[in-house]
Amino acid sequence: MSSTKLRILVPVKRVIDFAIKPRINKAQTGVETKGVKFSINPFCDIALEESVRIKENSKDLVEKIHAVSIGPSKAKDVLRTALAKGADTSTLVDVGEQEVEPLQVAKMLKKLVERENSNLVILGKQAIDDDSNQTGQILAGLLKWPQATNAFKVELDGESVAVTREVDEGVETVKAKLPLIITTDLRLNEPRYASLQNIMKAKKKPLETLKAADLGIEIENRLETLKVEEPPARSAGVKVETVDELISKLKELKAI
Ligand code: AMP
Repeated sequence: MSSTKLRILVPVKRVIDFAIKPRINKAQTGVETKGVKFSINPFCDIALEESVRIKENSKDLVEKIHAVSIGPSKAKDVLRTALAKGADTSTLVDVGEQEVEPLQVAKMLKKLVERENSNLVILGKQAIDDDSNQTGQILAGLLKWPQATNAFKVELDGESVAVTREVDEGVETVKAKLPLIITTDLRLNEPRYASLQNIMKAKKKPLETLKAADLGIEIENRLETLKVEEPPARSAGVKVETVDELISKLKELKAI
């Protein structure tokens, strides 16, 4: 196996906890965030888990796992979780409460990839708050690196990485040389919980804070959210007793 060391960058986004049912805010401009629990985006958790497993399974191969979050100062929490689960170092790009679109996120990640000299970036396939599914792809474009999206399995072989991807018809395996962008799908792995001991240890690991301007980026969003609405309430269903009754009901509704 080649001796190329891996310097893995894992972007982790702070989002409303996946178990919480989102409510639209009064102004209908987005989801209500007051008094709501936030956590690490589940697909980012999977990306982090995969990085840690790569490190654990081939200790000498991984030089460093660097976690990055772009968000408010509270996003330090998700970075501390990432450090407790196995990241070595971390950066918060503190943008306050400002929304940041995937292009801007990718531009900042590019700067950090260059600074950290990363040769593998593992991101979630999407953030569950904006469902953009764009950041990894844009980053690959900006860096001019190959990308393997929706990873189901990741296998390292020296300079090459084989990624099995979930596609509509089943799975597809692609191979690319480092440096590489990978985005993770749901079934890649099951993330671990951070132990109390590791949470305590993580407090001593590096967590630096930057501003977008420190990376030479001026955040300019291009989209304006006009309105966010709840899906229409479903009307009550009708129970039928027999198949004949079902057929006549469907005919009545002109469904058949
Ligand atoms: P998206 O393109 O917004 O659906 O996000 C896809 C992935 O990009 C996420 O799973 C993260 O790995 C990364 N990402 C997006 N936004 C951020 C952010 N603000 N901070 C850190 N990582 C992010």
